[in-house]
Amino acid sequence: MNDSANKIIIITAPSGAGKSTITRFLLAKYPWLSFSISAATRQPRAGEVDGKDYHFMSVEQFQEHIRHNDFIEWEMVYEGKYYGTLRAEIERIWQMGKIPMLDIDVKGAIHVQQQFPEQSLSLFIEPPSVEELRRRLESRGTETADTLEARVNKASYEISFKNHFDRIIVNDHLETACRETEAAILAFVGNSPEKP
Ligand code: 5GP
Repeated sequence: MNDSANKIIIITAPSGAGKSTITRFLLAKYPWLSFSISAATRQPRAGEVDGKDYHFMSVEQFQEHIRHNDFIEWEMVYEGKYYGTLRAEIERIWQMGKIPMLDIDVKGAIHVQQQFPEQSLSLFIEPPSVEELRRRLESRGTETADTLEARVNKASYEISFKNHFDRIIVNDHLETACRETEAAILAFVGNSPEKP
């Protein structure tokens, strides 16, 4: 193991801030990064694959993992829907000599950061404004008036935690936000020719 071993990169943001797009860009570019596949109890969306996008499971199975202390963090991100990071998933990625990249909600991100203060880099992707976030969510067309309002309120609340993270990256221009995130990760990992 070299000194890049056992690092963790956490990307967090309110919904609609562009965190998944930035995460996908980096995963495609750097083979030494590996997406941390969370456990989740929501239904798979069209095109999502069990064991690739999420480990989809029942509430009973999820609660069994909670009882066995299998998670490094878990949250009920939406009413009745559990999401969590399995310790075994992080260890699987470390075993491959790669760095896990966690795309998780703000509370989960704070919990991981608290457990791995030296080993983790936490990045908060901030939407340019709550109004812009509302516009983006509206243009996605996936929200009803109620869920839109709930997401916008949740986003304002989550933005209030932004100073807990190592870096805040404002996503007012996607390409610039991708580049800033990339630079922060490369600085964290170090400049050895073979990463990690
Ligand atoms: P979605 O249902 O849209 O895939 O994800 C909803 C939210 O749950 C996103 O903000 C996503 O980052 C977050 N999330 C995904 N996996 C985890 C996890 O393992 N733990 C926590 N705390 N949040 C997660």
